[in-house]
Amino acid sequence: MTWTEPSSTATALLLLGRGSDPSSEKGVDCPGELPAPSDPDLVARAAAAKAALGDRLFVLGHHYQRDEVIQFADVTGDSFKLARDAAARPQAEYIVFCGVHFMAESADILTAPEQRVILPDLAAGCSMADMAVLGQVEKAWDRLGELGLADGTVPITYMNSSADIKGFVGRSGGTVCTSSNAERALRWAFERGERVIFLPDQHLGRNTAVLQLGLSLDDCVLYDPHKPHGGLTPEQLTSAKVILWRGHCSVHGRFSLDSVREVRERVPGVNVLVHPECKHEVVLAADHVGSTEYIIRTIEAAPAGSKWAIGTELNLVRRLGNAHPDKQIMFLDRTVCYCSTMNRIDLPHLVWALEELVAGRVVNEITVDADTAHHARVALAQMLALP
Ligand code: SF4
Repeated sequence: MTWTEPSSTATALLLLGRGSDPSSEKGVDCPGELPAPSDPDLVARAAAAKAALGDRLFVLGHHYQRDEVIQFADVTGDSFKLARDAAARPQAEYIVFCGVHFMAESADILTAPEQRVILPDLAAGCSMADMAVLGQVEKAWDRLGELGLADGTVPITYMNSSADIKGFVGRSGGTVCTSSNAERALRWAFERGERVIFLPDQHLGRNTAVLQLGLSLDDCVLYDPHKPHGGLTPEQLTSAKVILWRGHCSVHGRFSLDSVREVRERVPGVNVLVHPECKHEVVLAADHVGSTEYIIRTIEAAPAGSKWAIGTELNLVRRLGNAHPDKQIMFLDRTVCYCSTMNRIDLPHLVWALEELVAGRVVNEITVDADTAHHARVALAQMLALP
């Protein structure tokens, strides 16, 4: 694999989250004295703190996390698997979530009240989750109500959304979905209503509706929360089968048709494997599309000598490349791009959070209020009950 390391990443990460809204997924500055990133003892300090906490601690590591952090994870996985793993570990008093804010919220929703969920850096948010804010979604729902369409509309939210949005969906008779079960969620919704409003990732919604349910692009409309009435006429909303929220992942949204063309020219025989958060034209041009877990399984099952250009987060692609040296694995784009908010969880933040726990202080705890958590659990339970 050939990698071009970004020179500006460190600066960009330092600037992220400064002075931002505490209720935002982009988070806020982290309080406390962090160890210096240059401290040569960080690995030993993290290991010592983890050992001191023993079974009282459970560390979750999302697939997109850095290697330096993943080495301390008790389990790795996607956001939903990790939240369920945490719920299955009732003896763990502290759940340290190496991921982003909405994931830690989901862990808090699914774990017992006495279990405390910690996000080592509060500035680790998700730009996609931030693109659907409760007030905006309620306004869109009210608009559907004014037009007499709310009763026939089923809301679906992707796991990558705030607890507020999951709570809204639970209150409104909808479901959560992941990138693995979005097709089942849409089919379930169409048995209950004439249309779906899909939050917050337009690409997952569009790719699933068109490629898996066989709907046309004209069946989908794009609701822009920054325009009056979403930028849609009553006729457009009435005739739509899928109302896509104007949100996207800033990492997966970067891959373009040119990225696919360029890698095919450069690497004859390459297989292009992408995540459904990529744009529709990229997914159409790819050879395989699927969730993070699907991507991992596909690479594990691939024959030695095969060539793969993967369109997902760079930490995962790099780890897959290191784990499968008999296969040629490359990042789909020439420009490298990490999820900058995922990358905020680094060793200094992890060491700081763990050492504070050893000292009896819980820092950066993520809590979801009881009412929101209740309704979010309804939407998550509905997902688990999908046929
Ligand atoms: S990779 Fe995309 S969807 Fe995932 S946390 Fe980062 S911005 Fe959010």
